[in-house]
Amino acid sequence: MTINRRSFLGNSLAVAGGAVLGSRGLAASSISGQVAGQAPGAVAEAEIDEARFPEGFLWGTATAAYQVEGAWKENGKGESIWDRFTHTPGKVKGGTTGDVACDQYHLYAQDMALAKRLNQKSYRFSISWPRIQPDGTGAPNMEGIDHYSRFVDVLLENGLRPFCTIYHWDLPQALEDRGGWPNRDLAAYYADYAGILAKYLGDRITVWAPFNMPWSFTYMGYGVGAFPPGRENFGDFLKAAHTVALAQAQALRSIKAASSKATVGSAYGMCPAYPKTDSEVDRAAAARYHAMNNVFFLEAAMKGRYPKAFVGEPPYEQMGFKAGDEKIMQAPLDWVGFHYYTRRIVSDASKVTAGGGSFAGTEIENDPATGRDPYTRFRAVMPTEGPLTESGLEVWPHGIYDLVTQISREYDHPIIEITESGCGYLDAPYEKENGRVPDARRIEFFRQELAELARAISDGARVRSFHAWSLIDNFEWANGHTERYGLIYVDYRDQKRTVKDSGLWYAKVAATNRLRA
Ligand code: BGC
Ligand code: BGC
Ligand code: BGC
Repeated sequence: MTINRRSFLGNSLAVAGGAVLGSRGLAASSISGQVAGQAPGAVAEAEIDEARFPEGFLWGTATAAYQVEGAWKENGKGESIWDRFTHTPGKVKGGTTGDVACDQYHLYAQDMALAKRLNQKSYRFSISWPRIQPDGTGAPNMEGIDHYSRFVDVLLENGLRPFCTIYHWDLPQALEDRGGWPNRDLAAYYADYAGILAKYLGDRITVWAPFNMPWSFTYMGYGVGAFPPGRENFGDFLKAAHTVALAQAQALRSIKAASSKATVGSAYGMCPAYPKTDSEVDRAAAARYHAMNNVFFLEAAMKGRYPKAFVGEPPYEQMGFKAGDEKIMQAPLDWVGFHYYTRRIVSDASKVTAGGGSFAGTEIENDPATGRDPYTRFRAVMPTEGPLTESGLEVWPHGIYDLVTQISREYDHPIIEITESGCGYLDAPYEKENGRVPDARRIEFFRQELAELARAISDGARVRSFHAWSLIDNFEWANGHTERYGLIYVDYRDQKRTVKDSGLWYAKVAATNRLRA
C-alpha cells in the first residue's frame, strides 16, 4: 500500500457529507473493487495482513435466550410468543421448537468455559422475560432471577463481560393476549421488567441493550407475519414500533434508577443502504431505508424524534403518537450497538402502483400487490454480486466499513459495539479429520469483514467490541435447525459441542488482535 490509508480515510470520516452512501456499494478507497482471483467484493490479502485491533478490544460472541436455553417450562417460566409459535404446526422449518435448543439453561457452565478457552472477553446473551415475569407483569419469579444471577457469576468467573440484551423477541404470551406491542401499555410493563433486572443484577451487569433488532420483530411480527404473533397489518407495525420507542427510553430511565453503574445502548439490526442509481429519487429512497430500518429507534432515543423514513410526515395518528411523546422517547444512549450481516440496494417506488393497491416494496414484502406499506415507498433488495452464504445472505465485507463510518459521522462519533455479525454454513464434524469441523468459508467471512472493521477503527471510529453470531449453533427462528451460525458445532442428538476451525481461528485473533493466523 502506498497511500497513507489513515489520513486518506480519516478525511473520508470527517466529511460532513449527506446521509447517503455512494451508489452500488463500491467503497471509495483504492483497495476496493475486484481483486484478481477473488470473489467480487473481496478484501485484498495485504489489508488483512496489516489489520490491527486496539489493545483491550473486546472480542465476544452473542446468543439469545430462546435460541439457546431450552428448558421452556422449567422453574416457573411462563409461555412466550415463540413457544406458542413453534408449537403451532407449519410455522418452523422441520417442525423444530426451542423446547430444548442447546440446553444452555443447564449447560451454561460448560459453554462459558468454552468461551474462555476461545479467549473471549465479552458474552452477549439475552434474558427470557417470561422466566422473570411469567405473565409479563407483577412480582418477579425468584427462580428466574436466581438462575440469571448464577449465570452472570459464571460469566465473571470466566473473565467474560456480561452484555445483557433485555429483550430478544420472546414476549410473554400473556402480554400478546393483551394486544402485544401495538398496545402502548407494554412500554410501562417493559420498563418495570427492565428495572427488576437492574435491581437484582445491576451490581454485576453494567452493559444493557433494551431491544434486539426492534425494526425486525415489530415488522416481521406485526407487519408481515413471518414471526410471532403472525399479524399482517402495517398499522399494527407502526403502533408496535412507537410503543417500542417509548419502551426503550422508559427502560433506560428505570435501569439507571435501579443501578448507578448501568450504561445503556442498543442492539439494532442495520444494513448499509446504497442507492440503485445516482438519481435524486433513488438517493432519497436509500435515505428513507436508512431512516426506517437502521436508525429509526436510534434517532428516537438520541433526538426525541423520528427520522425521515416516510414520504411526507410520519403517519403520527396511525402510530398512536400523543403530544409529549417526543419527550418520553428521548433518552440519549451511552453507546451505540448494532449488527452487520449484509447490505441493501434501494430504489424509489413512489411512482409504482401494482394490483390497484398503493404499492411500496418494503423488503420481505412477498406480495407487492397487497401494498401493505403506503408510507416508506422504497424497494430494497439484497444484491447477489458477492458470494452467498448457505443461509442465502450476500457476503460483502466493505459493508461494515461503510456502516460504521456512516453511524460515526451521523451521531457525532459515539462509542460503538458491534453486537452481531456472522454467517450460516452447515459444515459438520468430518470423520476423516478426527471429527474436526473444517469450516473454511466462515473463517474467510470473518477475516475479510474484520479487516474492514479494523480499517474503520484506524480511520477514527470508536468501536470497542465485536460479537460474532454465534458462540454455538442454535435454534434459527423460523428456519429451525436448517441453518448453523456457530463457532462451535452442536450435535442436537446428544448436545455434544465441537469447536469448529473458525472457533480455533477466532481464539487466535482474540489473543493477538490481528487476523494473520
Ligand atoms: C405532531 C407532529 C410533530 C411530532 C413530533 C406530533 O404529535 O403531530 O407534527 O412533528 O409530534 O414532535
Ligand atoms: C431469518 C431470521 C433472522 C431474520 C432477521 C429471517 O429471515 O429467518 O433468522 O434473524 O430474518 O434478519
Ligand atoms: C438475530 C439472531 C439470528 C441471526 C442470524 C440476527 O439478526 O439477532 O437472533 O439468529 O440474525 O439470522
